[in-house]
This record gives sequence, C-alpha cells and structure tokens, in this order.
Amino acid sequence: MSHLAIDVATEKATVTTNGRRIAVGDFELTVFSDGNYYNDAGAMFGIIPKPLWSRKVASDEKNRVVLGLNSLLIRGGRQTVLVDTGIGNKFDERVRKVYEPESRLLGNLTDAGVAPDSIDIVINTHLHFDHCGWNTVRSGDRVLPSFPRATYYAPEGEWQHGQKQYLRDRVSYISDNYNPLIESGQMKLLKEDREITPGVSVRTIPGHTRYMQAVMIESQGKKACYVSDLIPTVAHLDLLWVMAYDLFPMETIENKRRFYDEAIPGRRLVIFTHDPAIPWGYVKDLGAGKYGIDPVGSL
Ligand SMILES: [Zn+2]
Repeated sequence: MSHLAIDVATEKATVTTNGRRIAVGDFELTVFSDGNYYNDAGAMFGIIPKPLWSRKVASDEKNRVVLGLNSLLIRGGRQTVLVDTGIGNKFDERVRKVYEPESRLLGNLTDAGVAPDSIDIVINTHLHFDHCGWNTVRSGDRVLPSFPRATYYAPEGEWQHGQKQYLRDRVSYISDNYNPLIESGQMKLLKEDREITPGVSVRTIPGHTRYMQAVMIESQGKKACYVSDLIPTVAHLDLLWVMAYDLFPMETIENKRRFYDEAIPGRRLVIFTHDPAIPWGYVKDLGAGKYGIDPVGSL
C-alpha cells in the first residue's frame, strides 16, 4: 500500500475510492467517497510504534495520514440503502483546518445520478461525526435531512453515549447529525441486532465503541460486511493494530479475531470505511496474528 498511500498524500483531491462497484449476489455495492481527510497517525495506530506503521502508510510533516471516507450504496434489493454518510460539511473553520475534509459525498452521489430522494434507508454504524456527517445539512439556522425520504437507523446505545458528552469523546458526537432526525421521527434507534431490509442486517461489534454495529450483507450465498471502525483501513488488519480512539481495545482485538474466524472461511467481502485506496477485499490469514488482503476487481 505504500506507493498508493504516497500518491494519495500528494494528490489528495483527486485519488479516492469513489464509484467502484462490485456484485454480491443480487446486490450491487458501490463505494461513494466523501473525499479524503487528514488525521493524526498516532491516533490511528495507537500502541504501534512509528517505525512499524510508517512502513505501510506515509505521513506528512505534521505526522498526519490521509484517510478515506467510504460510504456504501447497496442497490438491487427491495430498498436502496446507504451505509454511513461521511464527514459532512457542518464544521466551523477551526475544525475544518484540522481535518481538511473534502466533503464530496452528496456531490459524488449526484454526479453518479443517485438522487438524495432515491435513498430509502440510511444506516449509521455509529454516531462519530465521520460516519454520520451528511445525515443532515444546515440551511440558515435550520438543520434538514440530506435524504428526505429515508428512514435512518443508528444504535440506541451510541446515541445515549453521545448524549452524555463524556470528556473523553464528546468532540466525536455532534448532535446536529442525528438529534433533529430523532425529534422528527425520521431516525429509528436500534436496541439490538436485526435485519433492516431483506439481505441487510446489523451486528453489534464492541471495541471501537460499546455499541458500534457492522452491516452484514448476504445474497445468493455471497456475503459482505461493512465493518466500520473494527478495521478502518487495510493497515489495521493485524490483530494488535488498533486505533488509540478505541474505548475497549481488548475487545477490538478479540472481536477482530472472531470476525476473521467467520469471514475468512466464509469468503466474506470486507469493506473498509477509512482506506483511501482499497475499499474492499477478502482477508487472508498469514499466521502469527498477521493478516493480508486479496484485493478484488470492480465491475
Ligand atoms: Zn468512529
């Protein structure tokens, strides 16, 4: 990934995963990117020393790495589903300077002929701002749904955690991304794992947060998983490569192992939310807690 990462670092505005498509049974999955953004490498790699992670990922003079924001559009089923909604555009100037977000998701959807009102369902894996930023848009002093016809879903435990505004992670929870939708009845909070529409279900995988839910996709015996921040990029495949953000890193490690126990023999396609170059692939076991990826072609 190193060559790709360096290319992405220097051409951030042009290189993303946007528009890549793949078939999973009857479903057609398309990655829609909200563009790339920067984040601190130490926060992304936790206890992993820089001499190790810097072999995989390039960082800039501020020790930042380029990250992707891959939302997943699922078409071909009974309803059209969008999983996660990127970082959005509701930041003030101070925060914008930190992350330098490109905020392209709505533009990329529109450019591909996907109208906002064609989305039936929006699923937020969790409510950190980089996963639900385009749930809403600001219009004057009002906050409006970006996807007016959609029913939105998010884990109830995530919402409760966000409402408490804990010192540790309150900056990650921006209530304008979800509270107006809850108040209007457009967002449903999920108390447990369930099927959202035939072939698309959510599964709680604690670690990054207590209630984060991955999205499991199955059709005609083919399987995929939008794994969210359990494995944010392909540089995080190895069991111990866990973000410093994770509230329960021991659980991330254990749940990653459990996920691989099922996903590797089951040939489950894995979608990586924050990889700026590789949106998906099949994980393979390299032994000794190390894992690799079989990249797959697009349609
Ligand atoms: Zn997160």
